[in-house]
Amino acid sequence: MEAAAGERAEPGNLAGVRHIILVLSGKGGVGKSTISTELALALRHQGKKVGILDVDLCGPSIPHMLRAQGKAVHQCDNGWVPVFVDQEQSISLMSVGFLLENPDEAVVWRGPKKHALIKQFVSDVAWGQLDYLVVDTPPGTSDEHMATMEALRPYRPLGALVVTTPQAVSIGDVRRELTFCKKTGLQVIGVIENMSGFTCPHCAECTNVFSSGSGEELARLAGVPFLGSVPLDSQLTRSLEEGRDFIQEFPKSTAYSALT
Ligand code: ADP
Repeated sequence: MEAAAGERAEPGNLAGVRHIILVLSGKGGVGKSTISTELALALRHQGKKVGILDVDLCGPSIPHMLRAQGKAVHQCDNGWVPVFVDQEQSISLMSVGFLLENPDEAVVWRGPKKHALIKQFVSDVAWGQLDYLVVDTPPGTSDEHMATMEALRPYRPLGALVVTTPQAVSIGDVRRELTFCKKTGLQVIGVIENMSGFTCPHCAECTNVFSSGSGEELARLAGVPFLGSVPLDSQLTRSLEEGRDFIQEFPKSTAYSALT
C-alpha cells in the first residue's frame, strides 16, 4: 500500500508542501511530541493532508503515539516513502524510529551523522502533496535544529510553534528558544502552553497545579502570538499511550480549540 502511494508522489522533496511548522521546546517532557501529534490529528480533522517529520533522533515517540511502531519505510523511484498512519493516507510520518532494527536501540551518533540523516529526511523522502508538514524537533537548540533549519530554509512559508509549560524553569528555556528563532530568522507562529492546569476526569473542572498565564505573559513580552493552553488530561495521556485519535473522540476538547 505504501509503495504504491509513493509511486504517485512528487519527487522526493518538499516542493508539494504548502506550509511547514516546526514544533520547538526548550526542554524535554513538556509535550512537544504530544502537541505535534495532536496538531496533525486536528489538521486531519479539518480535512487537511499532513506529514510529520520526527527529527527527535534520540527520542522518537511519534510512531508510538500514532500506533505506527513496527511499520516499514519503503524505497520507490522518488526516494523513501513515508509511513501512512491511516487508511485514507491523510497523515504520513517519517521517523528514525522506522529505521532502527530494534525500537529500543539508542541512537548514539555524532553531529555529522545526524546532520546527514536530517538532510536525507528532507531531500530524499517522497512527501508528495501536503497541506502541512509538522516537524517535531528535539528539545533545546542542538545540532539537529541547525541541520533542520539548514535543510528547510529554502522552503517557505516556514514557522515555529513553541511549546512551554507554566513552570518558570520551562519559561526560561523557552526564552532561549525564541532567541534561537530570532537569530535564525525563523518566524514564530505562536506559543502554546501545555500541561496548563489539570482536568478532573470526573467533573472536567480544570485546576491550576502550577501558576497559570506565564506562557501568555511570555508571548506578550516577546511580541509573538499566544495560541492557547492545553490542560493535563488523563484521557489525552491514555489516547497517546494507546495510539488513539483523541481529537476525533473529543472534538470539543480544549486541546482541539488551542490547536486550531
Ligand atoms: P516531549 O516531546 O516534550 O519530550 P511528550 O510529548 O513526549 O514530551 O510528553 C511527555 C509525556 O507527557 C507523554 O507521556 C505524554 O503522554 C504526556 N503529556 C503531554 N502533554 C499532556 C497533556 N496535556 N495531558 C496529558 N498528558 C500529557
